Amino acid sequence: MDIKVNYNAIVQQLPADVQLVAVSKTHPVQAVQEVYDLGQKVFGENKVQELMEKYPLLPKDIQWHLIGHLQTNKVKYIASFIDTIQSVDSEKLLSEINKESGKHNRKIKVLLQVKIAEEDSKFGLDIPEARILFEKYLKGEFPNVEITGLMGMATFTDNEQQIRREFLTLKTLFDEFCQSKTLETLSMGMSDDFPVAIECGTNSIRVGSAIFGRRDYSK
Ligand SMILES: *Cc1c(COP(=O)(O)O)cnc(C)c1O
Repeated sequence: MDIKVNYNAIVQQLPADVQLVAVSKTHPVQAVQEVYDLGQKVFGENKVQELMEKYPLLPKDIQWHLIGHLQTNKVKYIASFIDTIQSVDSEKLLSEINKESGKHNRKIKVLLQVKIAEEDSKFGLDIPEARILFEKYLKGEFPNVEITGLMGMATFTDNEQQIRREFLTLKTLFDEFCQSKTLETLSMGMSDDFPVAIECGTNSIRVGSAIFGRRDYSK
């Protein structure tokens, strides 16, 4: 597995307006540094503990995105440095981020994570819940955060039609929200499905194993 070859192959496939979030979870800081040295500045982690271990050891201009389920009691550990929290799946979590963000005089960027998978029961807001939360935000309820977009995960399946349907559901909601306020980021697409996500209008993909290789959870 050659990280440089993998990374360059993905970057070359990407349309200019699609952002790459390199998902470094389970991989050592040396691997993150290697990808950073190739020019990558945006990295994603899914666990607070792991992010806090890596953060001090890596360059300070990395933009860290949290992409995994976040417990409200852990927001305080990352509030001073996290660039974007992509996995906002409840009002309680958004309120907590708003509170911690204010303590640090920051405006943390967040994405609302929407449940689009028809089969997998993953974390996320259902569409009506996402609408309600976005309305409250537009009315000024969470002044210390900036909702910059939506994130979603398709069902883990070989059925490309289904994946496409799920991505298009999120794209439609994104366009609906953009009528009230222009949002920057539609985060959908991972190693196995990002080409479909690009066809469906994503502008930010989260790619781990296609860059870093398979994750070994036994370590
Ligand atoms: C792990 C993870 C990814 C990356 O998955 P790969 O299949 O390794 O590209 C993307 N998004 C989320 C939310 C993840 O947890």
